[in-house]
Amino acid sequence: MDDKTLIANVVSEVLKRMSTSNGSSAIAASSPAASTSGLFDNVDAAVDQATIAQQQLAKAGLEVRDGICKLLKAMALENAPQWGRIELEETKVGRLDHKIAKLGLLQGIPGVEFLKTASKTGDKGICLDEMAPWGVIGVITPVTHSIPTMTANAIAMIAAGNSLVINPHPSGAKCLCMAAAEYNKAIKAQFGIDSLINAIATPTLDSADKIFKHPRIPMLVVTGGPAVARAAMQTPKRAVVAGPGNPPVVVDETADLAKAAEGIIFGAAFDNNLLCIGEKEVFVVDSVFDKMMAAMRQAGAVELSAGGVEKLTKAAISWHEDHFVANKDFIGKDPSVLAEAAGIKLREGVDLLFGETTEDNPFVPVEQMMPFVPFVRVRDFDHALELALKHEHGFGHTAIIHSNNLNNITRMGQAMNTTLFAVNGPSTGCLGANGEGYPSYSIATPSGEGVTTPLTFTRFRRMTVTNSLRIV
Ligand code: NAD
Repeated sequence: MDDKTLIANVVSEVLKRMSTSNGSSAIAASSPAASTSGLFDNVDAAVDQATIAQQQLAKAGLEVRDGICKLLKAMALENAPQWGRIELEETKVGRLDHKIAKLGLLQGIPGVEFLKTASKTGDKGICLDEMAPWGVIGVITPVTHSIPTMTANAIAMIAAGNSLVINPHPSGAKCLCMAAAEYNKAIKAQFGIDSLINAIATPTLDSADKIFKHPRIPMLVVTGGPAVARAAMQTPKRAVVAGPGNPPVVVDETADLAKAAEGIIFGAAFDNNLLCIGEKEVFVVDSVFDKMMAAMRQAGAVELSAGGVEKLTKAAISWHEDHFVANKDFIGKDPSVLAEAAGIKLREGVDLLFGETTEDNPFVPVEQMMPFVPFVRVRDFDHALELALKHEHGFGHTAIIHSNNLNNITRMGQAMNTTLFAVNGPSTGCLGANGEGYPSYSIATPSGEGVTTPLTFTRFRRMTVTNSLRIV
């Protein structure tokens, strides 16, 4: 299946489900009273509610957890067209078709089937290892995928037996709260459990800090950029930290250039390059550089001239204190907006802009999160690897290579030491979109848990029974 077909299939599956449910499938956005909706304006009240709900969940057992996970997935799919639109209207970053696809991709989030128990028996009795919940988990979500991150976290955390208190990004809080309230209402109606997914309706840095420090929140799960990742890594609490990336791509002389171009366009254009795993800068060896640029044009991306790149760079990236930052007016915007800044008018249907730059261009070190990707000409594979390492900044997040040289693939995989390493496909392949792997919207990089699953949100507990309970 080619790249566009995959997205088209997800979107059409969503639309098909809409049309086969009497036209009344969409659950209206409403705001029930705070006590049942899970929406709060203070952290203590949210933690109180989350504590009660978690105790109810613990009593209800695994089948109910499984049922809730399936319910959340069904609701995300059913509501994807409206929720995608509502999220885009509020956050103003990304693309509608991919906002919808991201809600559809939640179908693949692992649930209770990921919880495995282990046992050991011997002459002295038995031991049983179980994966227990933490309790109430404090959650921070990014603006880039507000409802998807909340839903993916909720599925995995509830599968593991936990409840949530969320401090959403202020620019994506309304849509997150709307979806959380709908989930809570449906969970209550079907399973009788009060709001498991609790959110601060008007989040601030102060409410985030209260969640970080709350004595009844034993675990934090933080998804976001450098500042919040740093703050989370400094807390004395158990923190699962899904931090920033700046994924480099290396293309060597053995690569299938047409496939490389397709992969780069798919990964970098996805939701206008908002994904933390998305291709952000490309290093191509000199001997195939011109052919690679031609392959990108052939695959439908539009190349900016040197003058166009210069104009776009001036408009889209600025110097802040001691480093470059992407300009908010361009983050997650459509290619046509970037093209206008570069001084060209774009034809319909273009997913990605690209252009030759030197390593010095700020688009190379900056996690731009917009659909323009700089292509840097390098001497050879060694040079490409050196620059890929430098511009990934040691985040240990994601790296991509297009190559048919096993030695180069192995060397890059070892040297980059990233959580995700995509070979001969788009970055999204690592999360199951055009590749093998299950998805997650929180890839825990500095804290090391990687692609989060229900197991990430459990505590190991062992019971040992000495000299009894064995049946042999
Ligand atoms: P952001 O850092 O601006 O905000 C993320 C969240 O952190 C928001 O809820 C925000 O309110 C909160 N926050 C920011 N500073 C804080 C502080 N000092 N204390 C407490 N809370 C704070 O990021 P964003 O623009 O929403 O999202 C994009 C960033 O997130 C990118 O860097 C991207 O790579 C990263 N991201 C990573 C993953 C992953 O799985 N590793 C997934 C999505 C996004």
